Amino acid sequence: MTFETETPALLRADVFFQCRRCGDCCRGYGGTVVSAEDITVMADFMGMPPGRFIRRYCVWSGRRQVLAQQASGYCVFWDGLCRIHAVKPRMCRQWPFIRSVAVDPANWQAMASMCPGINRDVPASMIQAFVQRLQAAADA
Ligand code: SF4
Ligand code: SF4
Repeated sequence: MTFETETPALLRADVFFQCRRCGDCCRGYGGTVVSAEDITVMADFMGMPPGRFIRRYCVWSGRRQVLAQQASGYCVFWDGLCRIHAVKPRMCRQWPFIRSVAVDPANWQAMASMCPGINRDVPASMIQAFVQRLQAAADA
């Protein structure tokens, strides 16, 4: 397949990304942003009120709340596997097809530097259009 002859609507996600299960995305790279909705769902899963969940598991990164990290740099919920896989935040569920790629496709290459599952050979306009389409469907 050549990217030049395909439209985003015809491409499958695994053309852009195939997870290697290395766990590197759960470590470093700006933190995992969590929304109020994410916090409600995770707190319920952990059996605690949202306020307590925030105090125990979240920190501020600029004006955004992110999941805290262990001293190792891994997410507070990483233990060889994700301990909250069933309720992990939207950012984790959508990785690497996240909103920041729809806004600026240069982020795809930045993310590829730490995620070996990301296909670096994707044209910027192609991955941006693909992620924009996924995000629009998720928001609908
Ligand atoms: S860094 Fe990429 S390849 Fe590795 S586990 Fe995370 S998503 Fe999969
Ligand atoms: S919530 Fe789970 S998938 Fe998301 S960064 Fe933490 S350990 Fe990784």
